[in-house]
Amino acid sequence: MIFRPVRKLGLLTKFAILGAIPTLILSVMLGKTLQASISHRAREHARDEAVLFSHLAVEPLISEAGVASTLSATEASKVRSVMARDGGRSGVTGVRIWRRDGELAFTSGRVRHERPVHDSAALGSAFAGRSGWSLVGSGAADLHVFVPLRLGQADQVDAVLEVSMPYAPIAERINEESTELLLILLAGLTLLYAALFRIVAGASNKLRQQVAENEHQALHDALTGLPNRTLFRDRVEQAILAARRGEAHLAVMLMDLDRFKEINDTLGHHNGDFLLQQIGPRLRHCLRESDTIARLGGDEFALLLPNLQDPASATRVAEKIRSALSRPFVLEGLTLSVEGSIGIAFHPDHGTDVDALLQRADVAMYVAKETHNGHEVYATEDDQYSPSRLSLVGDLRRAVGSGELLVYYQPKVDLASGEIDGVEALVRWKHPERGLLAPDEFIPLAEHTELIKPLTYEIIGTAFKQCRSWHDRGHDLSIAVNLSVRSLLDLQFPDDVARLLEEHNVRPGWITFEITESTLMADTWRAMAVLKRLSAMGIGLSIDDYGSGYSSLSYVKRLPISEIKIDKSFVMNMDRDENDAVIVRSTIDLGRNLGLNVVAEGVETEEVWKKLAALGCNMAQGHYLSEPVPADEITQRGGARLLPDRSPSDLPGASVGHRDALAGL
Ligand code: C2E
Ligand code: CA
Ligand code: CA
Repeated sequence: MIFRPVRKLGLLTKFAILGAIPTLILSVMLGKTLQASISHRAREHARDEAVLFSHLAVEPLISEAGVASTLSATEASKVRSVMARDGGRSGVTGVRIWRRDGELAFTSGRVRHERPVHDSAALGSAFAGRSGWSLVGSGAADLHVFVPLRLGQADQVDAVLEVSMPYAPIAERINEESTELLLILLAGLTLLYAALFRIVAGASNKLRQQVAENEHQALHDALTGLPNRTLFRDRVEQAILAARRGEAHLAVMLMDLDRFKEINDTLGHHNGDFLLQQIGPRLRHCLRESDTIARLGGDEFALLLPNLQDPASATRVAEKIRSALSRPFVLEGLTLSVEGSIGIAFHPDHGTDVDALLQRADVAMYVAKETHNGHEVYATEDDQYSPSRLSLVGDLRRAVGSGELLVYYQPKVDLASGEIDGVEALVRWKHPERGLLAPDEFIPLAEHTELIKPLTYEIIGTAFKQCRSWHDRGHDLSIAVNLSVRSLLDLQFPDDVARLLEEHNVRPGWITFEITESTLMADTWRAMAVLKRLSAMGIGLSIDDYGSGYSSLSYVKRLPISEIKIDKSFVMNMDRDENDAVIVRSTIDLGRNLGLNVVAEGVETEEVWKKLAALGCNMAQGHYLSEPVPADEITQRGGARLLPDRSPSDLPGASVGHRDALAGL
């Protein structure tokens, strides 16, 4: 019972209480022992005085005969005078001499507190040869010391001298000494207690700090000091409870920094960390005191905006955050601006619990990344991205390197000669449950994660190997491989490609990399550095989906590219839509003026093929010529399979060479 409240007390209070009890007991016990020993010592001292007095002063004055009956008058007067002379110094106030028969042989007559002989055990033991003492009377008591007197034979006690002295001065001395010792003892114990208290106080303080620190660590991110996932979830839960009571909305936002991995890879982890540490303070200014910003891990941050009056204010905050991030950060003298993709979900519209809100915000963030819109509010349509699509990520992780990724090839045909010049490698995923998946279903997912890197290397490896194998059979085909933005921002990429070229014994001139315009917009200086190195190695570079983005030709001119591919959206309809036809025509002109190879993709009809040939386009790719097919089909069945419902000679402008090329495959 008593321990329950004690357990609740702080360590220090516990020590103060529990430590004081034994200290007190110890001091009382020590005090008692000391006092007993002091008073014992004081009495012994008094006895020694009395023994000395009797042996040195009294014994020489008396005779054996005297103590046998009564002291002679001379002896008695000598004893009295020695008492008068020396007794005062020793504190002796009375003397009596006892005979063996229990009668008195002498009394100084000033003995207070007379007592019968048989009462005193000390007298008895003195006759037995041991001096002793007893305290007689109370209050102003006397100490009576009994000293055996041996006047004749040394082994026989002839009489006992009883010396009485007042006890008060002895008691006073005892008191004085005891008090002094007790004070010293008390001071010592107090010091000891204080020292222990200090030590315990220090330790308890440290412990308390440690506990607080541990608590902080459990709820905060070590790198940035921001709340972590656990604390964030807790805050969202609290906010949901509060929002249920009132009218207010609340928003959960997830933000992922774009290209953070590249910053980390190129500028080093310490710079990446430094950047992450600056995000929190930078965003704080965009938020209210009651808002929470947390780091969920990596470059993913979460925000909680409780008490929103209207949902639109959340998008305003998202805009503010993006503009705050776009102000340059300085890292090792380099200034760089950061972009973040933000997904927003509202309570109660998009979810009523933490998990639902986080998941919806995640979907919205994913859409924001995909659409490059910066921020997106969750919309039900977006759920195509999730959760089943997001679950694909796990499958994809397993699929990379497992042989589930297949590469199909689609021919690129020379419009003038009708000859196949090369093929474009296009990936497919043979999913064990979902069947053959088109790249649009998983490439964006891979790009959203780190998976795009191993995936790209796997495709490049497969394509290079295939290229080598065709060349070994005498088919002079070039291969185009699509690159993702990640590859282009990876300064290591050209080295890796060089290694793969060597590994598969493939000439750089046989390879073209296709890059989309948006890829190029992502990070100019780094993309430029990578492109220049690839181009210097002798690899062809092609701008894919040309016309679908914002690329200006002045920009394209600065790039070391060798080819542009007109986006299929213009090509497919150019025979029906005059606008598309104009775009295709001007692009062909522009490209040719710049000395670039111009490829039209999405050629689905003979009309389009003819028009392109007339416009002077270099190459065509599309279902009219062949769909993307497995490598074996290109190798084994050649042209007949590539152009299923017509013979190669049907192709306008098809030459014998072309026929040979297709037939030879
Ligand atoms: P893309 O690079 O523009 O590839 C051309 C796409 O157009 C291919 O779709 C191809 O099958 C399709 N296509 C070809 N001819 C025609 C036609 O006449 N009509 C129509 N309507 N479509 C035609 P696919 O294979 O589904 O690839 C889609 C996109 O996926 C590619 O677009 C490319 O951006 C991406 N992709 C494919 N393979 C890879 C890869 O290995 N790595 C990367 N990073 N992206 C890839
Ligand atoms: Ca392509
Ligand atoms: Ca394309």
